Amino acid sequence: MKEKSVPFKSNIPNRKVVKTFCDRCHCECGVLATVENGKVVKIEGDPDCPVNEGAMCPKGLAITQFIYHPDRIKFPLKRIGQRGEGKWGRISWDEALDTTAARFKEMIKTYGPESITWSWGDASYHCHWITKQGWLYAMNAPTHLHSDAHYCFHPVMIANKVTFGDFLTSEGAPDYKNSKCIMLWGGNPVMSHPMAAKDIMIGRRNGAKLIVIDPRFTEIAAKADLFLQPRPATDDALALGMLHVIINDELYDKEFVSTWCVGFDELRRRVQEYPPQRVSEITWISQEEVIHAARMYAKTRPGTVHTRMGMLMNTNAIQTVRAISLIPAICGDLDVKGGHLMGNKPSGFKISFDIIEKDLRQAPEIEDRRIGAKEFPLLCGSESLALNNSHPPSVIHAMITGKPYPVRALWACNNLLLAMEDSKETKHALMGLDFLVGSDFFMTPTMELCDIILPPCSYLARDEACEPICTSNVVGARQKVIEPEYDTRDERDITYEVIKKMGLKFPADWDTIEKQNQMRVKGMGITFDEFKKKGYVIEPIRYKKYEQKGFDTPTGKVELYSSILERFGYDPLPYYQENPATPITAPDLSKEYPFILITGSRHVVYWHGMNKHIPWLREIVPYPLLQIHPYTATELGIRNGDWVWIEAPENRGRVKMKAELTEAVNPQVVHAPSHWWYPERKHPEHGCWESNINVILPNDPPYDPICGATPLRGTLCKVYKVEEA
Ligand code: SF4
Repeated sequence: MKEKSVPFKSNIPNRKVVKTFCDRCHCECGVLATVENGKVVKIEGDPDCPVNEGAMCPKGLAITQFIYHPDRIKFPLKRIGQRGEGKWGRISWDEALDTTAARFKEMIKTYGPESITWSWGDASYHCHWITKQGWLYAMNAPTHLHSDAHYCFHPVMIANKVTFGDFLTSEGAPDYKNSKCIMLWGGNPVMSHPMAAKDIMIGRRNGAKLIVIDPRFTEIAAKADLFLQPRPATDDALALGMLHVIINDELYDKEFVSTWCVGFDELRRRVQEYPPQRVSEITWISQEEVIHAARMYAKTRPGTVHTRMGMLMNTNAIQTVRAISLIPAICGDLDVKGGHLMGNKPSGFKISFDIIEKDLRQAPEIEDRRIGAKEFPLLCGSESLALNNSHPPSVIHAMITGKPYPVRALWACNNLLLAMEDSKETKHALMGLDFLVGSDFFMTPTMELCDIILPPCSYLARDEACEPICTSNVVGARQKVIEPEYDTRDERDITYEVIKKMGLKFPADWDTIEKQNQMRVKGMGITFDEFKKKGYVIEPIRYKKYEQKGFDTPTGKVELYSSILERFGYDPLPYYQENPATPITAPDLSKEYPFILITGSRHVVYWHGMNKHIPWLREIVPYPLLQIHPYTATELGIRNGDWVWIEAPENRGRVKMKAELTEAVNPQVVHAPSHWWYPERKHPEHGCWESNINVILPNDPPYDPICGATPLRGTLCKVYKVEEA
């Protein structure tokens, strides 16, 4: 185990520089925080931190504008008007916590513990998540509402676990720096995971080839050797076509496949259904490009494939990730230098996934009551491969219908109204709740619907362990740099207090922040104070660990043909399937709604719904921009910068954005960013219906049969100019 420590020195009185870790996105970069007279005055990247090597992104750098923003929620609040009316009164922490605990107890008495849920956001991150899971556990409440569980990270977890028994094609696994061929599929790490983008550029500098597959020509596509621009939501067909070429050309790693894979013959037979000519017709990519990409990847060893949300927001999410993941699998790129690494987190460190998966597992009969467990057992039930999630759209429906049981109370720790598809239905659901408590930094449209608000402090006021997601072998100590801002509190402390005041017992012996911190590092043989002194711990990477212990699948091998999917009644082999509303599946509808809409992409200055308040960041992207091809725009009489309406089928209304004319998208495709709202609008809704693309997207079936994903990308829409003043 390699360790490194950075001394903190300053010669200026009342000024100190403290090393800690940013939590403003999943990268968790090491930073140096300069504090003067108890206030953070500057943040810069920690050059010694192996995660970011001194680099930072704009949102991390803008943290001083975030934490000292005049609109921060500074103390506990109680609603004094009607729900959503925007009338608030300051209350003490005692009153806020007593009221919250009493109302939750009432809910348990009236409707049972399953009537209570909490929605996870990114306000306080992993330590907060494990603490809240303890709260659910203590109540015997099964339902955790992680608003994007059905289309974000968790489908990758399911697809990876049924195939490899481990996370091998998600963040942290690809060894970009040492790879010879990096294939980015449906993700733009420059915007979503800046430190992965840094590593990709290092890999590129070291000679790696770069293949980018994306319906948009992105910043990272501009650096690629090969850029493929498929029709949105046809990635399953493209991956199967590439497998067809790799298998029929015998470019796969024969020894690895014969020793470590099961189901190769079945896969070989399946991919014969996807010759390049058919794949070309489905995907808009020429046969030659399909063949070229497959050969480039398979002949350039070792390679890595990064899959991300681009192909998860559709109704064939799991099979799509499976198909893509099988490319590095049959090429033998698993747990080798420059390939996909199996977990290398420092031994003895307690990672949050293990806590959720092992330590805080509820009884099977409770987990099987989780909403979605019956329909999506691999996402939600006692045999879930995706942690403790419920099916988010079904939880929203349960709030409205009371089925399968009433959900009457929510602790909202994110901006659910922006995050959930069909936002107006979500508002209807939240308006009808008996009790809604919120924890967030700003008065978002969701916080405006709460009865009580319990405001958390920022990461700069927290001591906790962190586990950066973009690396496979680093953990770090986030250090308390300042006292909690204003009258805010550590979110874990808030949760522990609510548990106590409800008369419940936390279900583990780490029932204080201090004990929780010690628990995370105890297995490494150090105290949390010692961990803070080190700053971070790096585990040396070991390769081919499967040679000692096999793969953690039922057969101990890579399951090209998945026995788990077969056992649950799903197709054990990947296949191609169209989304429900595309020019192929709904040709009549596509006459009225002629464009294919892709949504959900990230911009580096925002993180989900956050940061619209922050002047330095908002200045960079002041408005939501709809990317539209200049040919299309000209035909519609739209000029660059015009406001345009975007409307989808099924009468969910329309939202407006500014047109950005760009050849980055195909003339038949438009791209809309997600999570737009206008905090500067004084009305409590803060313009959340105006430009949030989720307003017009579906929350209803059909879903992905395995993980319940909704088709947020690759659906139909129309676009027209805003004519009214
Ligand atoms: S990449 Fe993420 S963790 Fe790093 S500075 Fe930016 S917001 Fe912070």
